[in-house]
Amino acid sequence: MMGKQIIAELVVIIFLEKGTVEKSRCLGEVGIHMVDKRDYYEILGISKESSESEIKKAFRSLARKFHPDKNPDDPSAENKFKEIQEAYAILSNPEERRKYDTYGHNRPGGSPFGPGGFQGVNINIDDLFGGGFESIFGQIFGNSRSNNRRKKGGDLLVRHTVPFQSVYDGLEDELEIEALTSCNNCNGSGSRDPNGTRSCPSCNGRGRVQRIERVGPFAQQVVSDCPSCNALGTIVTNPCKTCNGAGNSYQNKKIKFSVPPGIASGNRIKISGQGEPPRGNIGENGNLFIEIEVLDHPWFERDGADILMALPVNYADLLLGTTVTIPHIDGKELQIKIPPNSKPGDTIALPRRGLPHMRSSRGRGSVTVLLKLEIPKKISRSLKNKLKELKSDISNSQSLEDSIIEEANNRRGK
Ligand SMILES: [Zn+2]
Ligand SMILES: [Zn+2]
Repeated sequence: MMGKQIIAELVVIIFLEKGTVEKSRCLGEVGIHMVDKRDYYEILGISKESSESEIKKAFRSLARKFHPDKNPDDPSAENKFKEIQEAYAILSNPEERRKYDTYGHNRPGGSPFGPGGFQGVNINIDDLFGGGFESIFGQIFGNSRSNNRRKKGGDLLVRHTVPFQSVYDGLEDELEIEALTSCNNCNGSGSRDPNGTRSCPSCNGRGRVQRIERVGPFAQQVVSDCPSCNALGTIVTNPCKTCNGAGNSYQNKKIKFSVPPGIASGNRIKISGQGEPPRGNIGENGNLFIEIEVLDHPWFERDGADILMALPVNYADLLLGTTVTIPHIDGKELQIKIPPNSKPGDTIALPRRGLPHMRSSRGRGSVTVLLKLEIPKKISRSLKNKLKELKSDISNSQSLEDSIIEEANNRRGK
């Protein structure tokens, strides 16, 4: 941002050094695209070298002449009055005047008044005799710009764990966070009553301050947030008792939210408008993001909508086959049929008994059961003796080498 500004500044300087002839020609070309938009200096009837007080004097005298109150029978006076106001708004602001001098009406980034252009301001005709109108213009750019920058409060991210079962069922959940919250008592203004604020004197209510910095031979204008008013442009003179004028405070708040079925660890649920309030309560709240961590299931591992488990089966059941029944996440028992002559490492697939897909009607994933050989932790003397008797019966009759080759062929899928 600042780099861009420096480049723009350098371009201007080089531009000016090339001479005024080239400059005016160039502005003339730009002017071709502008339809009936008059030069601001011309509108106020002043020269480009006019001082601030000359600009103000010219504006005051023209504004008095064309004020709608003075010209009730002339419908064109209102447009004329608006035109004078617009010219004054730009030329009375040093930063905007400098940009106008450089780019004319065709400045980069569009109208300084926003997409709608200049809307006109209400000036009491009495103020044109005194000096009450300056503050109205002083705030035009400061406010529109700082409002744009402060449209949204900060986003928040909290982490939250949910039980594995909620992946299947979904969950209506609630969490409590301590977050910056707009003060209820003053509606975020920080002021005890609506008139308890005044324009910040350090920045004249613009929320931003300018200073000149020197970069080598070039003067660089740097604009930054006003530290006195925290870029708000106003200072609270009669602070709200609840928040001490801050407009917000850290408060505990409960957030209710829905966890959709199929959610996975790392997924974020967005709760719009539950983030931090914008500064000065102008604009919209940020968002709250809840990052979900799904707790482990006692035995299932998860792969998207599919789930996997290992099942220890003893030697006899592998050999003879059996049916194992265990409780399952869908409330119905999971029946695992182990066929006779099963081997450790074999898998049994149970389609459509897995998890739902998130935000999709694609049905459910599958359960995959991996068979493991269960080795008893302890064997009694009598079992040992029985096994010794059985040993020759449960071994293959072929040679050890043939068994190894057969195993290798199985592994290689031959
Ligand atoms: Zn308050
Ligand atoms: Zn300020």
